[in-house]
Amino acid sequence: MVIDEAIEKKEIIARYRRLLRLAKPMLKDDDAKLIKRAFTIALEAHKNMRRKSGEPYIFHPLSVAEICVDEIGLGTTSIIAALLHDVVEDTDIQLIDIERIFGKKVSKIVDGLTKIRGVFEYGTSAQAENFRKMLFTLSEDVRVILIKLADRLHNMRTLESMPRNKQLRVSNETIYLYAPLAHRLGLNAIKTELEDLYLRFTDFNSYRDIANKIDETRASRSRFIKQFVLPVKEEIDGLKIGYEIKSRPKSIYSIFNKMKKQNIPFEEVYDLFAIRIILDAPLEQEKSYCWQVYSIVTDHYTPNPDRLRDWISTPKGNGYESLHTTVMAKNGHWVEVQIRTKRMDEIAEKGYAAHWKYKDNTAKYESNLEKWVVRVRETLEKQDLSALEFVDDFRGNLFSDEIFVFTPRGELKTMPTGATALDFAFEIHTDIGAKCIGAKINQKLVPINHVLKNGDQIEILTSSKQKPNEDWLRFVTSTKAKTKIKDLLKEDRRKVAEEGKEILTRKMRQNKTEINSRLYERLRDFFKVSSQLELLYKIGKGIITATDLKKFQEYKPTAPIKKQTASELADAKAVEQEIKKKHEEDTLLIGEDMDVVDYKLAKCCSPIPGDDVFGFVTVSEGIKIHRANCPNAPELLANHGNRVIKAKWTSQHELSFLTGLRVIGTDRVGLINDVSKVISEELKVNMSSLAFNTDHGIFNGEIMLYVNDTRHLEMLISKLEKVEGVVQVSRFDRVGDKLT
Ligand code: MN
Repeated sequence: MVIDEAIEKKEIIARYRRLLRLAKPMLKDDDAKLIKRAFTIALEAHKNMRRKSGEPYIFHPLSVAEICVDEIGLGTTSIIAALLHDVVEDTDIQLIDIERIFGKKVSKIVDGLTKIRGVFEYGTSAQAENFRKMLFTLSEDVRVILIKLADRLHNMRTLESMPRNKQLRVSNETIYLYAPLAHRLGLNAIKTELEDLYLRFTDFNSYRDIANKIDETRASRSRFIKQFVLPVKEEIDGLKIGYEIKSRPKSIYSIFNKMKKQNIPFEEVYDLFAIRIILDAPLEQEKSYCWQVYSIVTDHYTPNPDRLRDWISTPKGNGYESLHTTVMAKNGHWVEVQIRTKRMDEIAEKGYAAHWKYKDNTAKYESNLEKWVVRVRETLEKQDLSALEFVDDFRGNLFSDEIFVFTPRGELKTMPTGATALDFAFEIHTDIGAKCIGAKINQKLVPINHVLKNGDQIEILTSSKQKPNEDWLRFVTSTKAKTKIKDLLKEDRRKVAEEGKEILTRKMRQNKTEINSRLYERLRDFFKVSSQLELLYKIGKGIITATDLKKFQEYKPTAPIKKQTASELADAKAVEQEIKKKHEEDTLLIGEDMDVVDYKLAKCCSPIPGDDVFGFVTVSEGIKIHRANCPNAPELLANHGNRVIKAKWTSQHELSFLTGLRVIGTDRVGLINDVSKVISEELKVNMSSLAFNTDHGIFNGEIMLYVNDTRHLEMLISKLEKVEGVVQVSRFDRVGDKLT
């Protein structure tokens, strides 16, 4: 490739100028100078680097900074940190240099954005460790996360030029961690784009089909909307305020999810779009104007009483404010109408950063976000949680939708959906949680595992005799309650272990045995326990009895105790490195390498030739082949992206592969017979199993069968769809299976 450096230089300067222009309204005093300094340093540091696409590397930090300004609404400190976000990791510049020039704040943020170097123990996850590190800086400065999201967004936008295994790793990590994170911070526009890009790189066909259909239906949709809003518009005009009516189709990813979850074609997704009415109302009258418009809309169209959502009186935890109603249109379709002000709309799209503009008036929002940051900090402070456990816990917090409940004195508390009386007790106070025996909800007595509903008023009942036990972990959903219960149980264990230590000391003294680390090692080995704490706990609890201890003292080991862990660890590492070396460059050919490489087709998604697939190196079961859109891929790749290898089918027709089909239809006599006839007689396909159940005239069948490839499967599906009574035939996956 011939590179014209003069043209490139011009382009770099043009992009830099565009960044400054966008940032201009926010700049004060010497800000422009500082930004220039950061730009010069980054430009020099990345001077000889190029991205995979061939572009100069500096395009990346420039784009990240631009996203920070334009799409998130951040200011100077973030622009500087964004420009420098990759220099410590990839060049000779050190954090100390950055601190000297730009101060502690910037260097802290850059530090949070820099990956941890070094080797990780086998079985841990570098990705998880880095994610934890990044979040650790969140509790000090939320901008770290916002810049990281901008970084991720730009990497996703430019993912096309990356190798396939990297595409899969990055997109799955994005759907597993970053999109939920963007959602939790209220960055709706970014969250939506991340999700759509994930689908584009993991299931391109579905992505393209939905995108095309959205395009094809555009004209008829806008005709419909025009008619729908016509009578409403006339009356809103009468309010004499500025307003705007918009309609945007749902994101491709959410349409895809809906189709999959409800098993329906595109044409049957009824809420493809929502109509949004954005008002220019003055702050003190926001609420009243929104309700006036609500009243106008529902004068013309009948609302569905179950679908009214008032997030103006009680905003969502991520700051979202809006009034939603779903009404019946003249053509018999339900249409969602969202009513909000300009301010609310901006917060809904840009989230956290947008609120600075309206800072004085969003005390509620801020306190909610502050609560969340506190919660993240609490999770982070659990030192003994492994990074993988941490990511899991953290995600639990991200996903949950919220309900609103009240204390006996009428104080509003936000809880995750599915929270129980016990969750609520821990939300109030650890001591109350620890002593909780039940609750009174709306005057009725309920057990501790009772699931709360929106609007419940809860009074917790306690007893000084109550003590937490292992079962409690199953009764709670909030991270806060879970962590507290684990703590309490551990504390309890420690107390028992202390008693165990006393018993052990007494016994050993009687026999004049010295207590040292060597003895503990032998004890652990003899009783087959993994830690000293477990050993002492078992003694304290009486699981290891005095007789057992006596047996130990009489026992003379014949062979020296094996020094294991370290060498086993090295073995496992070597194996992984070996596989990595083998497959980093070339692609695993499925069908050909069968004898050489140990691999299996994953049961969860039953891939067949023609499917887009990847290989995943498991700890004990060799390599497993998954479909790129396997429902388990996000979790696997977000935590162990380094174990992914490229895989491709070789052309061979003599082999057949097991896969699953779900058949849905109306029940009639002879239908099962007809279906199996088509499969085994007409198409000569081997069935491995066939399970049907019928419920009130609807039948639901699951068939496992052997096919050659995706084309073969598609032909089979279209034949089956023609059987009388069959309404729908689709491939199915399973979540679960043994994965890592
Ligand atoms: Mn980057």
